[in-house]
Order: sequence, then C-alpha cells, then structure tokens
Amino acid sequence: NLSDKLDKALHVLKGHGQITEINVAETTKEVRRALLDADVNFKIAKEFTNRVKEKALGQNVLNTLQPSQLMVKIVKDELTQLMGGESEGIDLSGNPSVILMSGLQGSGKTTFSGKLANFLKTKKSKNPLLVACDVYRPAAIDQLHVVGEQINVPVFSDRENKDPVAIAKAGIAKAKAEGNNVVIIDTAGRLAVDEKMMNEISDIHKAIKPQETLFVVDSMTGQDAVNTAKAFNDLLNFDGVILTKLDGDTRGGAAISIKSVVNKPIKFIGTGEKMEAIDVFYPSRMADRILGMGDVVSLVERAQEQFDEEEARKIQKKIAKNKFGFDDFLGQIQQIKKMGNMKDLMGMIPGAGKALKGMDIDDDAFKHIEAIIYSMTPDERSNPSKLNASRKKRIAKGSGREVQEVNQLLKQFNQMSKMMKMMQGGGGKKMMQMMSG
Ligand code: GDP
Ligand code: MG
Repeated sequence: NLSDKLDKALHVLKGHGQITEINVAETTKEVRRALLDADVNFKIAKEFTNRVKEKALGQNVLNTLQPSQLMVKIVKDELTQLMGGESEGIDLSGNPSVILMSGLQGSGKTTFSGKLANFLKTKKSKNPLLVACDVYRPAAIDQLHVVGEQINVPVFSDRENKDPVAIAKAGIAKAKAEGNNVVIIDTAGRLAVDEKMMNEISDIHKAIKPQETLFVVDSMTGQDAVNTAKAFNDLLNFDGVILTKLDGDTRGGAAISIKSVVNKPIKFIGTGEKMEAIDVFYPSRMADRILGMGDVVSLVERAQEQFDEEEARKIQKKIAKNKFGFDDFLGQIQQIKKMGNMKDLMGMIPGAGKALKGMDIDDDAFKHIEAIIYSMTPDERSNPSKLNASRKKRIAKGSGREVQEVNQLLKQFNQMSKMMKMMQGGGGKKMMQMMSG
C-alpha cells in the first residue's frame, strides 16, 4: 500500500549523513512512484515531487535532524498543503441551514446523511431534519427512515410524490414549521454520471439554493473518484467533498488528487458503516495516515522547537575547555523534559505506541538524578572531580538516595563528558554516523 511504499522510499536516505542531490533525486523518484501506484494523478504527482525536491535541496538543517526525518517532514508538509492545509467546517448560519447531498449511487450519501445529522445533533446541539429525495426506489426511503430511527432524528418523506424538487421544498417548509435548524437532503444517484441524474440534482440545487452542497465519493474508486468529482463540480460548484469508506485497506490517492483537481476542501471522512463512523477531515492527519508513521513529524518539530542553538554552542565551548559540569547536565535534562512528557514522546514513535500499552512509565524519570544534583554545592557541580567519599555520603543523605546511586550518576556523567569530547574532536563525524546507523 501507499504507506509502505512511501516508507520504503524515504528509507533511501537512512544512513546518509547528508542530503545530496543524488539521494534526494533517488528518494523523490520513489515517492513519485508510490503516489502513482496509489492512483494519484500523474501531473499532480510530478508537481508534488518537484516541490519536495526543491525544498529538500534548499534546506540546511543537518545539525539537528536526520536527513530521512527532514525528508519525511518535507513530504508531510507538502502532502498536507496539497490536501488543503487547514480543515474547514460547514456553513450552519442559515435558518434553517440546508445541506444538499450529491454523488453516485453507492457512494454513501444516505449513510453519510445520517452520520452528519447525528454529528450535528450530538456535537453541535443542532436539531436536524432528514429529507428523502431518492424517489426511484422505495427501499431508499425505507433506508433513510431506518437511519433516522437509529439516531433519533426525524425523517421527512412523501411516497406519493415523484418530484424530488417538490419534496425538497416541502421538507424545508416542514423544518421551518417544526423548528428544525438544519435540513439534510438525501438524493438519488446513478452508477455512473448520466444526463438524467445530473439534470435532477441540478434542478434541486437551483430550486432550494442550499447553504452547503456536499459531494460524497467512495474513496475506494481511485482515479474514477477524481473524474466524478470534476463532473459534479462543473455542474454544481459544490462546497465540499465527503470521502467515504476510508476504513478498510483504502488507497489514499483520491484524497490527494481531488483537492487539487476541483480545488474544494474535503470536509468529512466516513470510516465505517456505523452512524458514529464520521470524522472531521484534517489534512495533516490524513498526511500522517498516508505516510503511516504515527506522529513522527510532530516529534521532529518539537525537537526542533526546543533545540536551543545558543545553548548548544555554549555547552560545546565548555566541553572544549573541560568546563562541562553538573549544572550543564541539569540544563540538558531540563531541555529533554521541556520536549514533553515521556509517555507522550514515546507514543509518537511508530510501533512504540502498541508496545507501551499497559506499561507504566515513570513520567518523571529524572527525578532522582535531579535530587542528587540539587544536593551538590555549586562548587561541586562545576568541579565534579572534587566529589570524594565523604561528600558523596553527604549528597546521598541530602537527596534521600543511596551512595550507590550517586556513584552511578557520577560514572554516567563521566562517560557522557568523555563522549562529548570525542564528538567535538576529529572523531565527531564518525561517531555521529555510528550513532545514526
Ligand atoms: P448511497 O447510494 O450514496 O445512498 O449510498 P449508501 O449510503 O446506501 O451506502 C452504500 C453502501 O456503502 C452501504 O452498504 C453502506 O453501509 C456502505 N457505506 C457507506 N459509508 C461507508 C463507510 O464510510 N465505510 C464503509 N465500510 N461502508 C460504508
Ligand atoms: Mg441512498
């Protein structure tokens, strides 16, 4: 699937210490192939990878990040942008607000009408009315009534009437009379775009002038979804897209292409047959989903935010002069803590979330270390070599820890100082490469 392919593509960069023209080209080629395989429109995939390439070569942040992570971030940012940047809500300002559903048969209009009614009722305290305008199959009207009963929302239908425009109007009149502030109009679809269906939805659209016209599309239909979206948009100039059936092993291609082809936001996604299986569409979350790597990207971003270059330079100077002490060590711990709660951080690592479930991690893993350092005098912190047996005993007592722990901390501290010195010297690059694998 797309996630695996993109993942593979981005691994090209793993183990490289630097973003070069060559490995960026390799990676973007793989990304493009993955997008094409996922039914993303050729032109869009090409433009997309060109932008990624440009950005990757223009970046100069190798001091803090692994190149592969940076590449992931660039790809994710671009994907998010492509799918719409921010998430967009629906217009509920009308009284009543009329929402018209459009789309092919089987795309999920009736199901989504129910989901949306339920969402607006429970999350937005609205009082919706569902209107059945699919007049061709009696079963279609029954289906909407079943949905309405499930979520306890009234349904307006008229089995004697075969004119969907008249039914839609009557439904809106009923909503006004009964105080329903949202009207959701479910319509008939065909298996493919045809003139009769297009005329009908266009007539309803013209007659009722809805606040929101939503185009519902089955995300499993791949490139066809994009073509259908274009046909409906040319006719209705709709306000938003609903991507359904994003639950199973669905390709993400439709989500990527639709926005760029019709330039309309995706507003909601359907993720199952149940009435609760509806989610507001967030471009960045969809990008995560497509990239399939948990929330690595925000982890990278947080690390970036917290990384204080000035501080780092100061510490490097101290190391060079052999002046790195426990105060600096404490500062480092505080930096790590600033990055967030440990459990949060680890949860962002792909795969780690599952492993951590049910495990109890001490959020404040550094508490004991801090206690020990706080029990040292400023002079001792700057000159750890002064820590003899009696001082250690005093520190242990003061911090409520064992002398053994004080010794252990000292040992770790010394190792760390030694390592930092090595990294500063000529061996630094080699060491970094070793560590990044
Ligand atoms: P309509 O013809 O456009 O009204 O489509 P329906 O609402 O009748 O849906 C067609 C089929 O797709 C039904 O069997 C629905 O249960 C199913 N369906 C709709 N939305 C989703 C979804 O988000 N996920 C899954 N798995 N099935 C869906
Ligand atoms: Mg239907």
